[in-house]
Amino acid sequence: MKPIIIANWKCNPSTLAEAKKLFNSVKIGIKNVKNTEVVICSPFIYLSVLKTNGAQDCFWENSGAYTGAISPKMLKDLGCKYVIIGHSERRKYQGETDLMINKKIKAALKEGLKVVLCIEMLSQIKKDLEGLSGGIRQLADKNLILAFEPISTIGTGKPYSIKAAKNANFAILRILRKNIPILYGGSVNSQNAKDYIKEAKFQGLLIGGASIIAKEFVKIVKAVDLISKI
Ligand code: PEP
Repeated sequence: MKPIIIANWKCNPSTLAEAKKLFNSVKIGIKNVKNTEVVICSPFIYLSVLKTNGAQDCFWENSGAYTGAISPKMLKDLGCKYVIIGHSERRKYQGETDLMINKKIKAALKEGLKVVLCIEMLSQIKKDLEGLSGGIRQLADKNLILAFEPISTIGTGKPYSIKAAKNANFAILRILRKNIPILYGGSVNSQNAKDYIKEAKFQGLLIGGASIIAKEFVKIVKAVDLISKI
């Protein structure tokens, strides 16, 4: 399986012109990248213009009286393939609970989106994935990705050590007992990126801050692409 690198632009950049510039620079920078799957999760309004392949959230209903909500069906209709669900910043600032996240995961999987479930603590896994049964369970086996993002590392410039990350990765594997890709996220940069894949055995990375600096993000993708060719 190809490593997956996911850019989480968060609430950035603040103008469409800057978003276009960032997107085009990344596109040009990674044009020869063949062995790595690159996903750009832009804010919704840029997604519809740039046709980025990822979103940062979605609601659990496909339509109705839910002011401000963006549905899985709307994302799918725009050609979006991936959606981040349960990011720690949504849990913190939007008050998202495990129950809400669970509903979102089910709705997005049903719509055929690939779900990138973010967890900060291993105890969130079971709650967030509670009750996936029948067809949804089969979709999860195919389309679920887990991103482990320890809270102390997000946006702090203090990444998990490779050793701690590797231990967490294996602990998650024991909980999931499935072939679900597990990504690491938290202060990844072009210097440490490849070690999380090569040494800590993650299948990919979720990148926040470094993903809005085109040069740095391209360097990360290339560093990972280089080791995945070997
Ligand atoms: C994130 O927001 O998912 C993230 C990992 O952020 P950063 O890379 O800035 O730590």
